[in-house]
Amino acid sequence: KKLRVGLLFGGRSGEHEVSIRSAGAIAQALRHTDNTARYEVLPVYIQKNGIWQTGDAAARVLAAGIAPTNETEGSLWEFPSDCRAIDVWFPILHGPNGEDGTVQGLLSLMQLPHVGSGVLGSAAGMDKLAMKSIFAAAGLAQVQYRGVTRSQVCFNSQALPQVCSDIESALGYPCFVKPANLGSSVGISKVRSRAELTMALDHAASFDRRIIIEAAVPTPREIECAVLGNEEPQTSCVGEISFDSDFYDYATKYIPGRADLQIPAQLPESAILRVRALALQAFEALDLAGLARVDFFYCEATDEVLINEVNSLPGFTATSMYPLLWEASGLPFPQLVDRLVQLALERG
Ligand code: ADP
Ligand code: MG
Ligand code: MG
Repeated sequence: KKLRVGLLFGGRSGEHEVSIRSAGAIAQALRHTDNTARYEVLPVYIQKNGIWQTGDAAARVLAAGIAPTNETEGSLWEFPSDCRAIDVWFPILHGPNGEDGTVQGLLSLMQLPHVGSGVLGSAAGMDKLAMKSIFAAAGLAQVQYRGVTRSQVCFNSQALPQVCSDIESALGYPCFVKPANLGSSVGISKVRSRAELTMALDHAASFDRRIIIEAAVPTPREIECAVLGNEEPQTSCVGEISFDSDFYDYATKYIPGRADLQIPAQLPESAILRVRALALQAFEALDLAGLARVDFFYCEATDEVLINEVNSLPGFTATSMYPLLWEASGLPFPQLVDRLVQLALERG
């Protein structure tokens, strides 16, 4: 009997469209000749309004690769009855309400296995302040940072001047201001003055209650490593992303042709070994499972490797870094997807 895989995609985040394309690639891999005898795909689409769709409606979105222009209205708590047939879930949702432990909690509550990290790893990996304090406790080298809350930095806050001077003396300029819980560089600014700092704090506060400010790494090279496994996770070879813009912002990420991937990255062998060891340490420190992409900054001048962040449900299209890193490491896309489902079943 075929194993019924609930492919959960779309979602209420800014990365809705990427999720649809990731899910399309994963569905194709589950139907690949190597896998088709063992897996049946049940697409489950979460519309931007949060309503869940199954059956033909979900299959149409998957096949089209883009969100429908008209969304079905309905009740958020009408859980589609055909979801009861699902044996294992494969959530491929990026960002808040998908990668942050919320969906993982729901699936755990259903007592069904799912691909990827559980509640703790997902939540810890999504919140950049929680993530960085866990990295610090694990002794991983990273940039200096500070955390503030929305109420401290809104324009009528009495505390704002003091908050700004604390940031200036701790981190200096330039620095990065980010919503703590987001991805795809949404809400992130690089700032060089007090005026830019207050604007950026206000902007970040429009996305999240929690805000992180980080010292800027000067001209970093952006290095990524893929991790796969549960108790004995493995690392892929290491990749690099290069681009012409000031930093890896939203447009650079999503406008085709703006960024180049180099696999494997042209780095000194010792730096590659450090990246791979650090990726495993981060995976374990955050209690991640199944998969994660761990991102680093490499400073050529000082030969330093700094950890930047983890992504517990990284982009998974045919041209995404995570599957490309595994392909270059000898694990083709269909086998990678098969392995992820098996890892989900092993964890139960
Ligand atoms: P996201 O989760 O949205 O990808 P990141 O923290 O990875 O957010 O930041 C997005 C990009 O911004 C990075 O890939 C990098 O180009 C730039 N960046 C972020 N923080 C720093 C930093 N401290 N120093 C230098 N560049 C940074
Ligand atoms: Mg991220
Ligand atoms: Mg990033």
